[in-house]
Amino acid sequence: MLVLDPSSCCDICLDPYDSNDSNPEGSPHLIISCGHIFCKRCLSKIISMECPLCRKFFSLNNLQRLYVEQPEDPDRMKKYDLMRKLVLTCDSKEEDIVAVREEVDVWLGSKVKEGKHCSVRKTVEILDRLQRVKDQKRRHKREIKHLKRSAMRKEQELLE
Ligand SMILES: [Zn+2]
Ligand SMILES: [Zn+2]
Repeated sequence: MLVLDPSSCCDICLDPYDSNDSNPEGSPHLIISCGHIFCKRCLSKIISMECPLCRKFFSLNNLQRLYVEQPEDPDRMKKYDLMRKLVLTCDSKEEDIVAVREEVDVWLGSKVKEGKHCSVRKTVEILDRLQRVKDQKRRHKREIKHLKRSAMRKEQELLE
């Protein structure tokens, strides 16, 4: 379960998030692709599918619901902090990613009892999957470029 500091509020409507199931419309949702968080009501009003803070495109399938938790548990806050770092650095320089991953690994290593359903571990898995898709896309693009170039060369040869 992804958790959020109870003092935080939605950057669009500036209302504090409603905790959990009392009002699902006011519950916080994380945009996985950029790491920004808004309430569900505000997200559902966005027509352009661009994050209102950073303009990165997102899809409604790529949202993760967050829960508002009690702040007194430092472990929960640490988890939230790690997940946020993971998401926010996913497009950063290699060394930043490595630094965050190291911090996460150390934390996970100290929390063996969290098991495979730990939200931090899940976040790592989601980001790894996203990275694989991105790599694949990049590879396909390169292949297409290559094919186009050789097709052009062939055409040239036929004309000569
Ligand atoms: Zn809102
Ligand atoms: Zn954003």
